[in-house]
Amino acid sequence: MKLNTDYQEKFQNRHIAPNAADTAQMLKTIGAGSLDELIAQTIPSNIRLKKPLNLPPAKSEFDYLNTLRQTASKNKVFKSFIGQGYYDVIVPGVIQRNILENPGWYTQYTPYQAEIAQGRLQALLNFQTMVIDLTGMEIANASLLDEGTAAAEAMFMQYSLRKNQDAKIFFVSDEVFPQTIDILKTRSEPYGIQIQIGDHREVELNNNIFGAIVQYPAGHGAVYDYSGFAAKAHEKGIKLTVVADIMSLALLTPPGEWGADVVVGSTQRFGVPMGFGGPHAAFFATKEEYKRSIPGRIIGVTIDSAGNYALRMALQTREQHIRRDKATSNICTAQALLAIMAGCYAVYHGPQGIKLIAERIHGLSVLLAQSLEKLGYKQLNQSYFDTLKFDLGELVGPLHAEALNNEMNLNYEGSVVTISIDETTSSEDIKTMVRFFAKVKGKTLSDVNFDELKANVETVIPAALQRKSDFLTHAIFNSHHSEHEMLRYIKSLETKDLSLCHSMIALGSCTMKLNATTEMVPVTWPEFSKMHPFAPADQVGGYMQLFDELNNWLSEITGFAAMSLQPNAGAQGEYAGLMVIRAYHYDRGEGHRNIALIPSSAHGTNPASAAMAGMKILVVKCDENGNIDVNDLREKAEQHKDDLSCLMVTYPSTHGVFEEAIIEVCQIIHENGGQVYMDGANMNAQVGLTSPANIGADVCHLNLHKTFCIPHGGGGPGMGPIGVAKHLVPYLPGHAVVDIDRGKSIHAVSAAPWGSASILIISHAYIAMMGAEGLTDATRYAILNANYIKSRLKHHYPVLYTGANGRCAHEMILDCRSFKGAGIEVIDIAKRLMDYGFHAPTVSFPVAGTVMIEPTESEPKHELDRFCDAMIAIRHEIDDIEKGLFDKANNPLKNAPHTAAVVTGNDWEHPYTRQKAAFPLPYVATYKFWPSVGRVNDTYGDRTLICSCPPLEDYEFEESVIE
Ligand SMILES: *Cc1c(COP(=O)(O)O)cnc(C)c1O
Repeated sequence: MKLNTDYQEKFQNRHIAPNAADTAQMLKTIGAGSLDELIAQTIPSNIRLKKPLNLPPAKSEFDYLNTLRQTASKNKVFKSFIGQGYYDVIVPGVIQRNILENPGWYTQYTPYQAEIAQGRLQALLNFQTMVIDLTGMEIANASLLDEGTAAAEAMFMQYSLRKNQDAKIFFVSDEVFPQTIDILKTRSEPYGIQIQIGDHREVELNNNIFGAIVQYPAGHGAVYDYSGFAAKAHEKGIKLTVVADIMSLALLTPPGEWGADVVVGSTQRFGVPMGFGGPHAAFFATKEEYKRSIPGRIIGVTIDSAGNYALRMALQTREQHIRRDKATSNICTAQALLAIMAGCYAVYHGPQGIKLIAERIHGLSVLLAQSLEKLGYKQLNQSYFDTLKFDLGELVGPLHAEALNNEMNLNYEGSVVTISIDETTSSEDIKTMVRFFAKVKGKTLSDVNFDELKANVETVIPAALQRKSDFLTHAIFNSHHSEHEMLRYIKSLETKDLSLCHSMIALGSCTMKLNATTEMVPVTWPEFSKMHPFAPADQVGGYMQLFDELNNWLSEITGFAAMSLQPNAGAQGEYAGLMVIRAYHYDRGEGHRNIALIPSSAHGTNPASAAMAGMKILVVKCDENGNIDVNDLREKAEQHKDDLSCLMVTYPSTHGVFEEAIIEVCQIIHENGGQVYMDGANMNAQVGLTSPANIGADVCHLNLHKTFCIPHGGGGPGMGPIGVAKHLVPYLPGHAVVDIDRGKSIHAVSAAPWGSASILIISHAYIAMMGAEGLTDATRYAILNANYIKSRLKHHYPVLYTGANGRCAHEMILDCRSFKGAGIEVIDIAKRLMDYGFHAPTVSFPVAGTVMIEPTESEPKHELDRFCDAMIAIRHEIDDIEKGLFDKANNPLKNAPHTAAVVTGNDWEHPYTRQKAAFPLPYVATYKFWPSVGRVNDTYGDRTLICSCPPLEDYEFEESVIE
């Protein structure tokens, strides 16, 4: 037998699930002669790309990792003492392996379907409780994107709530981190908010100031007593935001105890790697009275249909979709996975553990300060937690060289040097530093009585600022400290949640595709995870190469001139893109252009982002086929041609259709002086076949957590880089600390220069391993899979909107409004799907009373069939209600989901069998996923809002009695 010697496994065959035989069968069902024919019937020929994508040849998984090792080795992992919001951490192994590296957690979706998401809802409730305790505030949300944007959200909340409408000034302490100030500048400008930067000890507060922000400890490490400042601010009706370091709050009097109205910050230090800037979870805590204005998501306690403890997203869950341009924030994807990690870090260490870690950090800082003072250095912070400040004058040069020799990075600002100690710092590290500080002055370690100093370290925090109150007192934080208990706790939460590990999650618009293991593996390599975002340029060659490649590839895929990798969610990309458009108009002397046209079918973040960018929103109608009403668009564009800023358009449309008129639509906008912003959430239907630039867009964001394989993490992380045409490149976002200026850059939109840098690796891996052909095939198979589902379900559910040839794009909408007669709402179908082992598709977006299904290319025919079987079986159940076989109130849909407790309970008073309830189709029996609670009660939860872990005795379950 002749043997082959160069077989290469193709990753594309792992990522795209349907095989040749299945494909043939599916095409037959659809009634298309070939995949090419189907694509030709789906995508208008005038927007098809003429050439294949120009990308490097696809790499096998094995080859990719080998190549990436070389790239990674160009990052130099020095010990970081840079601080400035980013600190090295010890990720507890049990958390790293069982959460961060565990698809059971990272492939979950945002917990909209609460009954199959109780695990992450509990973990996020723990996070909220932890934040409330440490900050001393009353209510907290379930994470924001980063510290800088959290500060901006706080500013905006205070601005919207201001009593004096003429107050336009936001006072910013000059000791707030520069990247935070940068974002405050970006976000304040469109609203006409003036930023006044100064020293909080000297500023004269007056009635024109509506809010103020200070940092605790301050940017260079000083711990100030802000209580006097807070009191003065409140006298003038000024609300105070405090950016706080979460670790320091274990030792410092929390801001909630000295007058803060809002406390924000990053929880990165709680066991989340630096990752060259992210992803990390920011927190936002405030007072009860502001609960309806809090940005982002809040998890709340409620009861289920059996009256048992259950959790859900409370209040503004669907904020943007309901309030659109009146929404208080555009945040959709946040940082759920990282918030879960940080919350679990607190569960793992408990209050004593956290306090010991914080004390050690503080102790080593004091030891270093005192040692250096013995050498004659003057440490400039009187009171501090972990950060020392020196002005080294001309010694800074030699010292910098010594630090580099010892592979240590300090923070240098001219001759001023700051040193931040973290959880990973050892007393040996301190000794090393003392040695080279001594050497620079011609002295040695023996000039410092190091061991004696070490034995007598005392806190330098003044008594008034030493924390007296308890924190993390809830049982959750005091129970799981052995590894077995922690492992089982994490597992017990994980098993309550349905993820891609169990079944297809066919969420329209959200593109829940494969998150391949090989794509995920490098994220936790130390060369990537232990990098500080402000590390010197000559230590970050690996990341720079990776970004360069990703930039080039994404530019090729979108057809644009360049990308900005800074926005760390789709909605942030929208905002960044609109701000770039705004800057472009201003630069051309057309700053008055402020009207954004947005079709009525747009995602809620579109109007919310446009409002944040200072634009006025005009809604463009859709016709009965769901397409943009071109006449209405033309009329509005012409009527407002002097003030038109842009159109925001999703393509293919949120209705899942490639609109034929798209080129004309873009032309109309351009003819009237506007720019076209394309929402790239549906890029999974474009890659390789058409592109935003090809269609006529000027800017587009990509949800890398949709199309480019970053997992959704149960509601984040994500990345939303933007691509722009050549004329917009100079305006792409800059950064206050790292120079990425493009000439006329807008201020930063994210705290870190490349957003959540470490997860960009995932998209890099995906593109590198798929290559041009693989990526294009992914699009083709995504369209095939969607049309197959459509063909199977169209006789059972009306399909809303299709293209000119009756095809859908990569997703379709099923109309469920006609079941109202039987008393069935779309939500009942969503809940019933859980009994069949499936997560519901997107519910009531973009059309109320419908579901939107997007299978993606990663699902095999077998899985599509299981899903279709479930949907059809549910349709028959609805038939039975319509026929009167089941009661309108007591039927398998209304009672769904059925928990194991209900199905095995002693009472069963339903007109259908237990088997029908829990094992409605044969396949379910082979792999049953049990919802852990019955249907959650939304009204109850909002009426009695509880957003932290309630005392366990409040939710005692009935003792089960063995009869
Ligand atoms: C997901 C989505 C967004 C928002 O993106 P995030 O990453 O969640 O901020 C915007 N538009 C559409 C159409 C989407 O599907």
